[in-house]
Amino acid sequence: MTETIPDQMRAMVLENPGGPLRLRSRPVPRPGPGQVLLQVLACGVCRTDLHVVDGELPDIPYPIIPGHEVVGRVVACGTGVELQPGARMGVPWLGWTCGTCYYCRNGQENLCDRARFTGYTLDGGYAEYLLADARYCFPVPDAYDAPHAAPLLCAGLIGYRCLRMAGEGRRLGLYGFGAAAHILAQVLRWQGREVYAFTRPGDTAAQAFARRLGAVWAGDSDRRPGEPLDAAILFAPVGALVPAALRAVRKAGVVVCGGIHMSDIPSFPYRILWEERVLRSVANLTRRDGHEFLALAPKAGVETHVQVFDLEEANTALERLRSGKLEGAAVLVP
Ligand SMILES: [Zn+2]
Ligand SMILES: [Zn+2]
Repeated sequence: MTETIPDQMRAMVLENPGGPLRLRSRPVPRPGPGQVLLQVLACGVCRTDLHVVDGELPDIPYPIIPGHEVVGRVVACGTGVELQPGARMGVPWLGWTCGTCYYCRNGQENLCDRARFTGYTLDGGYAEYLLADARYCFPVPDAYDAPHAAPLLCAGLIGYRCLRMAGEGRRLGLYGFGAAAHILAQVLRWQGREVYAFTRPGDTAAQAFARRLGAVWAGDSDRRPGEPLDAAILFAPVGALVPAALRAVRKAGVVVCGGIHMSDIPSFPYRILWEERVLRSVANLTRRDGHEFLALAPKAGVETHVQVFDLEEANTALERLRSGKLEGAAVLVP
């Protein structure tokens, strides 16, 4: 390839637990066998990035560059990789799996014993360039520009995996109406299902946003709509919502926890789980989830709502996410 690649790049680096991220100059990595070097066009800011910055996930290999909702263009390929220079590729959270452990051999590579994760155990997309294993990248649908495609790569994908676990029920509760819920709500409406949006008590702006995206009901998370729900998905990392959601679902209803980290779940009486209600979590993604969801999103007419920040404003974007002051998703554009 003929494109000139600079020696150095700007990156927002996490150097110790609690952050903040620091702007640093880093060498631009060169792709080894099976790898692709991407110039980052946009990188979404996910709640998991907050858990990384806050040191709430185990074994963070400092210093690390966060960011796992990456849209980039191919600038160089290692041996064995045949991607077109300039092609747009998406890099998700799942960055590498072993292919040989029990889970990899049984269609659950999301649970791989030796998995590596973009922006957590592998350097991520809060930078001008990113190295990725080409086997875990997805082509980005043409219908989206880079900033609007970025949130699809985690908020969209994880929401889709949660939905698969939630089943075919008609009435779906979404707890926490941020980046993931605003995408999933549009998929549900397209499927002809009903969305019940639960927000922080008093967050009328988020409730109005949910209604604009087709929610049939939107209200405070401590309230219950008149009808019992068929299933509920929790995107907010708040353990107290687990018993609230169990109380809101019907007999045999499913409650899915979509986050990687959550505050402790308060004890609750067995009777709210009884009658075959199911409580489960969802972890990471498989490449199958990614290909299925990225094919479905443009078909369902999913539009992402984004707020764009400069790369250097990563700390500001994270604080806006933490305080619930975002409508839709924050995206960094280097
Ligand atoms: Zn494995
Ligand atoms: Zn994420």
